[in-house]
Amino acid sequence: MSTPARGYAAHSAETPLALWNFERRTLRADDVSIEILYCGVCHSDLHFARDDWGMATYPVVPGHEIVGRVTAVGSDVVTFKTGDVVGVGCMVDSCRQCSSCNSGLEQYCAEGFTMTYGSPDRHDNTLTQGGYSDSVVVSERFVVRMPEGIDLKSAAPILCAGITTYSPLKHYGVKPGDKVGIIGMGGLGHMGVKLASAMGAEVTLFTRSESKVAEAKRQGADHVVVSTDESQMAAMTETFDFMLDTVPVQHDINPYLNALKPDGTHILVGLLEPLDPAVSGANLVFRRRVLAGSLIGGMPETQEVLEFCAEHGITCDVEMINIDQINEAWDRMQKGDVRYRFVIDMASLKGDNAA
Ligand SMILES: [Zn+2]
Ligand SMILES: [Zn+2]
Repeated sequence: MSTPARGYAAHSAETPLALWNFERRTLRADDVSIEILYCGVCHSDLHFARDDWGMATYPVVPGHEIVGRVTAVGSDVVTFKTGDVVGVGCMVDSCRQCSSCNSGLEQYCAEGFTMTYGSPDRHDNTLTQGGYSDSVVVSERFVVRMPEGIDLKSAAPILCAGITTYSPLKHYGVKPGDKVGIIGMGGLGHMGVKLASAMGAEVTLFTRSESKVAEAKRQGADHVVVSTDESQMAAMTETFDFMLDTVPVQHDINPYLNALKPDGTHILVGLLEPLDPAVSGANLVFRRRVLAGSLIGGMPETQEVLEFCAEHGITCDVEMINIDQINEAWDRMQKGDVRYRFVIDMASLKGDNAA
């Protein structure tokens, strides 16, 4: 017997999200059933549902920054029990046998991981549905434990924005004293500033707008560079060990490569298209610089970033909304009018608001 669920779904690329009744699957032996308390609102939700990437499926309930409470577990579940407070991020399954999966890097699964929404389930081929809903059923391997004492509302975005910035900083070995540039001050960028600072790096935030300078310093950036000011950019020549590039739209990365020391690394986490303008080979070759990319993080590392954030008192700056405000929130997010993440209070799906 599947369980009735309700959520907000997109039924096409053009229609607003609307209340939708659907079903969650019957628990398999390794499944955990979760009552959703909060769900962060990620740019990917909007891009997927509006079919900006040409991969949309409908209806789709978006949402992959899920925090909730365990309400039931399957017979083989060992890690979680009813009442545990848990999180689910961007992935809900993978092949579990390739070398990436065996290394806890499920995001690089050779067969492709199963996305939290809009992916066919590996067992029954039904489409997965995400966290803008009252419940979700997920295999325990893809569930993380929320650390004791962490603020659950503002921790939800760690499950996507946090892990996406933490994973490359960790992988490429950012250490105390390193000079790290963070490009962009959105949901990802502001988490990058906090995480790199907590790792002991000297952090410089690059922003296009003068108006974000004071705010970036409040977030913990040691320095701020206005990237549209050529003299400020020139003054940064060969300064940085790492550049974490969170900008999801086209931008010229050559001036940022020039700001890296020899052997410095530029890490893309936002841009998926062919780079335009093109990268000058000379900007890499003459200083042995590295151009790299990184995608979210694996399950062990997702647990790790939650512990790291709890230990260092890091949370995401969030604006809470009720579920019936989601369409307005998407419009505002598209205009960049959010500091820095909307989070849905799912209690609003139960009351009169949801009718
Ligand atoms: Zn996301
Ligand atoms: Zn795999």
